[in-house]
Amino acid sequence: MMHPVVRRYSLPVTIGSVTVGGQAPIVVQSMTNTDTADVAATVAQVAALARAGSELVRVTVNTEEAAQAVPLIRDRLAQQGLNVPLVGDFHFNGHRLLAKYPQCAEALAKLRINPGNVGRGSRKDDQFAVIIEQACRYDKPVRIGVNWGSLDQALLVRLMDENARAAQPREAGEVVRQALIISALDSAQRAEQLGLSHDRIILSVKVSEVQDLIAVYRDLAGRCDYPLHLGLTEAGMGSKGIVASTAALAVLLQEGIGDTIRISLTPEPGGDRCKEVQVAQEILQCMGLRSFTPAVVSCPGCGRTTSDYFQRLAQDIQRYLREQMPVWRDRYPGVEELTVAVMGCVVNGPGESKRANIGISLPGTGERPVAPVYIDGEKNVTLKGENIAAEFQQLVEHYVQRKYGTVDLEPPQRQAS
Ligand code: SF4
Repeated sequence: MMHPVVRRYSLPVTIGSVTVGGQAPIVVQSMTNTDTADVAATVAQVAALARAGSELVRVTVNTEEAAQAVPLIRDRLAQQGLNVPLVGDFHFNGHRLLAKYPQCAEALAKLRINPGNVGRGSRKDDQFAVIIEQACRYDKPVRIGVNWGSLDQALLVRLMDENARAAQPREAGEVVRQALIISALDSAQRAEQLGLSHDRIILSVKVSEVQDLIAVYRDLAGRCDYPLHLGLTEAGMGSKGIVASTAALAVLLQEGIGDTIRISLTPEPGGDRCKEVQVAQEILQCMGLRSFTPAVVSCPGCGRTTSDYFQRLAQDIQRYLREQMPVWRDRYPGVEELTVAVMGCVVNGPGESKRANIGISLPGTGERPVAPVYIDGEKNVTLKGENIAAEFQQLVEHYVQRKYGTVDLEPPQRQAS
């Protein structure tokens, strides 16, 4: 069930077919880690990310070869029927690449620049201006993405000096946070002075510590009406990255702050890049802000659990539901709201099963070797024998067809337990 969160006011920004900000749903985005010049590899990864549910995909544009590859990548994706908006990530030489390869600018749906990496010293302003000119010429929105690790050092030194001279100097971390915010807001103001429309700008200010991220975004959110891209940068690997990102983003999202999110997980070697999309979706879905995939409610198991059969059933059903979604999304509108309970025994099993659309309780230690199934709060059937998993999956499929499909099907026969 969706939970109302009062969203911070922001101007909507259109990025190809996607809207970020305003009251548009919070957008999930991701970034490739392939060499963008490798067209085949990048097309494959963008396609995988898009199919996993990434609504925007960012690619690195760091060389002439990468800039030349961008239109090819866009075209090959379109040939597969994938029109996911591509975002170009530029650092240091973005001005040169965009000026030399206008077809790259044209193929991208959005540009991302980092004010700390646009250029050094006297060249910075001119190089920033070239990028903004290209954005205006091709009507591309721009994310001004400030990052803790590449903060404009001249700005930071100036603010530190001013702070040192102040009657009541602030703590150094606070000055750094201010520098991050000022860098973003000043750059946005400069972009507007150069002709970029106010509603073509998105801001982000990423740091790697949870409390810093929350403090920075709370402050930034009150100072502007640009849509905000949220993400904990360098979140880390595995559960640490997931937990840190979730801890930071959940607080901000609950306060209505954040219009698009990315989870910056470090994949395991050879790991699946799509994990960051799945985590982003799960954060939004667990918070009741969006629905993407039917949810599986399962208990942790305990001494009453007789074997790992119940864990495998929960895993298989989760996988099955995810695999069905590319087809089900169009065929069964609303199916993403489905909840399926898979419980280890009858202590909490029937209760959770009744709350779910469909639920099963496997037999715990000392219980009869039967598995009651509840559908829409009513006990429907009791499964037993070797094929409980397959039969339960069939019941789920039938339920989905009946509840979300347009064709009327008879409910499965009730059996005596
Ligand atoms: S539902 Fe049963 S198996 Fe699962 S945690 Fe509770 S008591 Fe243990």
